[in-house]
Amino acid sequence: MSNTSEIDWQARRIDVQPIDEYPHRVKLTSGRFRNWRRISTWPLMAAFFITPWLTWNDNPAVYFNLVQKEFHLWNWVLWPEDLTIITGLLVGGAFALFFVSMYAGRLWCGYACPQTTWTFMFVWLEEKIEGSRNSRRKHDRGQATFEQKLRRGIKFLLWGAISLATAVTALAYFYPLEIWAADLAQGDISGAASAWVIIIAGLTFINAGWLRESFCTHACPYSRFQSVMFDSYTQTVRYDEQRGEPRGKSNPSNKTGDCVDCNLCVHVCPTNIDIRDGLQIACVDCGACIDACDQVMLKLGKPTGLITYEPEMQRSAGQRWRLWGYGMAVCVTAVLTLFSTLNNEPLTASIQRDRVSLYELTPNDTVLNRYHLSLHNRTTDTLIVTIFDSNKQIGEIEIPAGARAGQAINIEREMNVPSGKVSISLNYGEFEPQTLEVTYSNPYANQLAAN
Ligand code: SF4
Ligand code: SF4
Repeated sequence: MSNTSEIDWQARRIDVQPIDEYPHRVKLTSGRFRNWRRISTWPLMAAFFITPWLTWNDNPAVYFNLVQKEFHLWNWVLWPEDLTIITGLLVGGAFALFFVSMYAGRLWCGYACPQTTWTFMFVWLEEKIEGSRNSRRKHDRGQATFEQKLRRGIKFLLWGAISLATAVTALAYFYPLEIWAADLAQGDISGAASAWVIIIAGLTFINAGWLRESFCTHACPYSRFQSVMFDSYTQTVRYDEQRGEPRGKSNPSNKTGDCVDCNLCVHVCPTNIDIRDGLQIACVDCGACIDACDQVMLKLGKPTGLITYEPEMQRSAGQRWRLWGYGMAVCVTAVLTLFSTLNNEPLTASIQRDRVSLYELTPNDTVLNRYHLSLHNRTTDTLIVTIFDSNKQIGEIEIPAGARAGQAINIEREMNVPSGKVSISLNYGEFEPQTLEVTYSNPYANQLAAN
């Protein structure tokens, strides 16, 4: 058995081979991989379209408020100061992707990526409206009837409607539908929102309708770097060359392999590649070619699995140390992020000294220091914050849910009290009080002591 390091996966993933000069018209197939894709993509798509309509405590449940720099996820609100949590989520997500990619190949691409999901949705519509792959290709060769031209026009209209719905939904995560509707009712058609709708709708239409595999091959960074994560034990879609070759129609005078060269695996491929040419960067491991080939094999009375989803070499997950490493990284990042989240104070507070006057002698012969207290209510309720210097209340402020507020506070001491640290206590509702330390300055105390 060869060693993992001996295999140059980057070199083995050959570039995309163009199939012919006409646009690639995908033939839909049925089978277990298509069923798996339905199970994964339908709930994801439903979640995407439904989520902007959901509310939580009379606010949008998921709302990326770029103006206020707040991310609302149900009862959880993230602010820029939560950079550690956001970083933890992103890094954890990246390690999880590495883990899944190394174990099971491009599961993300084939079963969850919006690019593939929308492409399959557009292909499904195309086939339902325009008919079989053959009739669509006849159209491409300029042999279309009036009805076929009409059907193609209807398809474009429906693609446009889906693209528009996608754009409105995507924007609703940043500009809630309720606010949008209220603005429209008052005749306020936001230029920026309208521009984004047009841009996103246009990109969806072009991407899922035309670019398709070109995006995966030339624009998606994941397709480029996923080779680094693969090894010989990674599950991928592969063609059994030994069994299939030499390919060709079965002929008594000619000994051929199991591949009858029907090209069905190519016709169903959303990325327009021939898996029999070997592993390719554009392959998204969707399994459509497996479904198609299994059907051919069953019709021919041969065992299925000429194209399979399996690793080149078998090794148990327990023996794959790099896989364990990615798994550990996911766990460590998840624990740290959770720890950071649970330790978040409901109120963020910071205090700065007044830069204009360091200390002041008052008419009562006391020394006063001025500070500015900055507060941020991170809860979803209004907080009343009471500020104490030792046991003496020196201020009170009401802060609405999610709002920031500032408060000037004074620390006043007798003239003979020396400079030093002073504790300011903040009490707010049922939460644990917070204590802030500030430096109190009084040069008069030293002068008094010297005299
Ligand atoms: S579907 Fe199977 S039999 Fe047909 S060309 Fe592809 S590999 Fe060969
Ligand atoms: S080669 Fe097969 S698994 Fe890869 S993208 Fe094409 S149909 Fe999907």
